[in-house]
Amino acid sequence: MTLAGLMMGRPLLVAPLLRYAADYHGDTTIVTRSVEGPLHRTNYADTHARVQKLAHALIALGIKPGDRVATLAWNTWRHLELYYAVAGIGAVCHTVNPRLPVVQMAYVLSHAGSRVLFFDTTFLPLAVGLKAAVPTLEKVVALCDAANLPAEAKGMLTYEELIAPQPETYEWPEFNENTAASLCYTSGTTGIPKGVLYSHRALVLHSYGMISAVRMNVEDIVLPVVPMFHVNAWGIPYAAPLMGAAQVYAGRAMDGPSLFSLMDEEGVTCALGVPTIWMGLLAHMKTMGRKPKALRRVVIGGAAVPEAMVRAFELDFDVDVHHGWGMTETTPMGVINTLKPKYKSLPRAAQIDIKMKQGRAIFGVDMRIVDEKGAVLPHDGVSAGLLQVRGPWVIKSYFKEEASPLTEDGWFSTADIATLDGDGYLHITDRAKDIIKSGGEWISSLDLENAAMGHPDIALAAVIGAEHPRWLERPLLICVPKGDVRPTLEQIHAYLIQKVPKWWLPDAVEYVASLPIGPTGKVQKTTLREQYRAYKFAS
Ligand code: ADP
Repeated sequence: MTLAGLMMGRPLLVAPLLRYAADYHGDTTIVTRSVEGPLHRTNYADTHARVQKLAHALIALGIKPGDRVATLAWNTWRHLELYYAVAGIGAVCHTVNPRLPVVQMAYVLSHAGSRVLFFDTTFLPLAVGLKAAVPTLEKVVALCDAANLPAEAKGMLTYEELIAPQPETYEWPEFNENTAASLCYTSGTTGIPKGVLYSHRALVLHSYGMISAVRMNVEDIVLPVVPMFHVNAWGIPYAAPLMGAAQVYAGRAMDGPSLFSLMDEEGVTCALGVPTIWMGLLAHMKTMGRKPKALRRVVIGGAAVPEAMVRAFELDFDVDVHHGWGMTETTPMGVINTLKPKYKSLPRAAQIDIKMKQGRAIFGVDMRIVDEKGAVLPHDGVSAGLLQVRGPWVIKSYFKEEASPLTEDGWFSTADIATLDGDGYLHITDRAKDIIKSGGEWISSLDLENAAMGHPDIALAAVIGAEHPRWLERPLLICVPKGDVRPTLEQIHAYLIQKVPKWWLPDAVEYVASLPIGPTGKVQKTTLREQYRAYKFAS
């Protein structure tokens, strides 16, 4: 029989993360490029004071534990305050992705039953429309002060007026750590958005995982470029206070030049985002001929990272790249790529080959790959199968859905096809629905895209399977050229043959001005497949 431990069972809650930062790192800064343009500066002590005012204000609005309070907002200090005040009083912060189609926004708000919506003034018409369309939505509040309220919104309640009369101290209640703190819907890339309801416990444990994964320390100045409306900005708003690291928020200005100057001026040391964001920044870094002065490392994930991007950061600008993998359902951090000590002596080019893998699990995340019958496959770096995960910050059920997303033995099946090698490095070869099934063999669309993006004349590439009379599907390469040169299929083949097996070579190449980008900044293959549904390869 086991013996019960005799330690306190203090609940792991979100509000104490900020209280800790206020107490021990009170003057550490939080800088935001405001929606109106100028930089806004605050620190953890003042933020905590305002969060306590907001807690009182939410209660005065009638928000009760368990209620959903929605946001339609960029990455700003006010959004951060909402994260903490809403969860701190036991309610649920529902972050809505403003890039979703309007019908889906209305759907997620209704599905969540959100009662109040806080919105950045950029989204005023949207907020007004949603208020009319969503019966549960009782109130909308503009995230600004009276002076910055647009004329068309005259009379509408502003955030600053809402919190102004409230006291600066509030006793954070203690409740069960499994209580819901925030709610984020999947982005609909794979169907109707589904609600992922994060618990306080999951968010706090994820924060510990996150600081070790990105090696955050108290001297860091961290910029989550990933939006706060997408999986809690990868958990950075919770993890940075736990470490006492300074934070920088980009507001709505996420283009290369804006990011560069913000990072440069504020001395950002570590930044996190999806590959499409880094393309803009890298292009600007090339124009400037330098990196933002203090930038030491970037974490790139959410979609496959082009090798050319890793090379540019590492070799041209001496910025460490950490590739990572995760999903909305995993809060999101699952794996992060750090080099094992034994690989540190390898030449940089060989290290980059390893860095192209998504990385190794952080403690707390268990991974396995299984074949079509569910049999567990070996970690040999070759056997490819469906990736399954489990852990304290992995989803158990979707919000208001009866059917369990778990296997009978308690694992969550991702939609990713992957290999795991002997060191535990995960390599995502595809999303299950994107993999190209050519004559019974699998072709990794991600590896092929990546190889194509190494071509000097290609800026962006996507590969989809197009119908083929003999092989069922063959790869079609769709490219955005860098300049005026459009390499022929033969020239593409001559380049790719150095990198991929001969039978993977695409049967055709098409050039386009841009690729469809989804609400979370990823290339939307569903749209591409739709566009090229009737595609016929030249025979
Ligand atoms: P969506 O499903 O709408 O894209 P998520 O943000 O939850 O929303 O996406 C998670 C998915 O993104 C993963 O299942 C995987 O397919 C993809 N992904 C995340 N990180 C990586 C990565 N580093 N490399 C390749 N794919 C990735």
